[in-house]
Amino acid sequence: MLYYYLTKFAHIFYQMKVTEHIQQAKGTLVSFEILPPLKGKTINSIYEHLDPLMEFNPAFINVTYHRSETMFKKKLDGTFEKVEVRKRPGTVAICAALMNHYKIDAVPHLICGGFSKRETEDALIDLNFLGINNVLVLRGDAAKNEAFFEPHPDGHKYAIDLQKQVMDLKNGIYLEEDIKNGVRPDFCIGTAGYPEKHFEAPNLKMDMEHLKAKVEAGADYIMTQMFFDNEKFFQFVKECRANGINVPIIPGLKPITNKKQLTILPKIFHVDIPSELSNGILKAKTDEEVEKVGTEWLIHQSKELKKFGVPVLHYYTLGKPKVIYNVVKEVI
Ligand code: FAD
Repeated sequence: MLYYYLTKFAHIFYQMKVTEHIQQAKGTLVSFEILPPLKGKTINSIYEHLDPLMEFNPAFINVTYHRSETMFKKKLDGTFEKVEVRKRPGTVAICAALMNHYKIDAVPHLICGGFSKRETEDALIDLNFLGINNVLVLRGDAAKNEAFFEPHPDGHKYAIDLQKQVMDLKNGIYLEEDIKNGVRPDFCIGTAGYPEKHFEAPNLKMDMEHLKAKVEAGADYIMTQMFFDNEKFFQFVKECRANGINVPIIPGLKPITNKKQLTILPKIFHVDIPSELSNGILKAKTDEEVEKVGTEWLIHQSKELKKFGVPVLHYYTLGKPKVIYNVVKEVI
């Protein structure tokens, strides 16, 4: 019944910018991030994942973007053919479907990797046609077969360059110079921040300078990489404010649910796992016990962040909606 009313009246807070959600909030909001399903699965897998979480009336839902991967397929004559495969297509379509299905704001992630400026412009026009006015603007990681990030020959090297293209469009500046008085889509722009430093940045200070440049170029808010030690987030917020970055900072949160993550997460996301948490996980004897430790840690993290006054608790659900459900019900 509660779910019925929440979804029925969700539209009151719908088709707003992330920053408007924050401005109008009476307390800490929650939001979720999902991945598009693997090619071949239906949109229902997303709804099944999100349905229980809708009870918490999330302010918005982010949908990640995944660039295509280069693969080599063996042909009948024994030679190999190079093909570009997108394993998780559909970010923009999923956002539109979520908005239609739940009457909730969806935030597509936009990346530089693999895209020309023209393709990006077309994607932004699609978003505008669909009534999607929130974007999280990112560079994207290196392709799996590359050691370093290589921009598309007609694309962008850094997130700030992509962001400038979004800003241009907001000001009616299209790549075709002869478009005069074109529509000016009013996108709310999110940008990524790294409490523990982006792994390519030589030091925190330089990373902070690049973050500041993104905010000065028009980013409306910062969404952070996951972290497991709140002190790192508190210090990051302090540094941002000391450097004149005054936009909202949304913490990104993820539960640890298996032992392998103790090595995988630092390797992929370049984040530290506090020894208190890693010791707890290592001592756990069963998968259920590991999940319990990870859940309790995230509840503690979330409660502390809420007390600190974060505008939104943003959860990376990544196939673990039950854990996120158990966390959010204790926090909100
Ligand atoms: P940038 O801001 O461009 O920064 C990249 C590096 O370059 C940093 O080290 C920065 O200090 C440096 N730098 C920035 N500007 C300059 C400059 N002018 N000169 C020199 N150096 C500079 N990836 C995906 O592929 N899909 C997703 O959906 C996705 N979602 C994400 C969501 C969040 C909240 C976060 C935090 C990350 C996400 N990522 C995603 C990962 C992200 O794409 C990678 O972390 C990527 O390596 C960096 O992206 P960025 O937008 O921070 O890049």
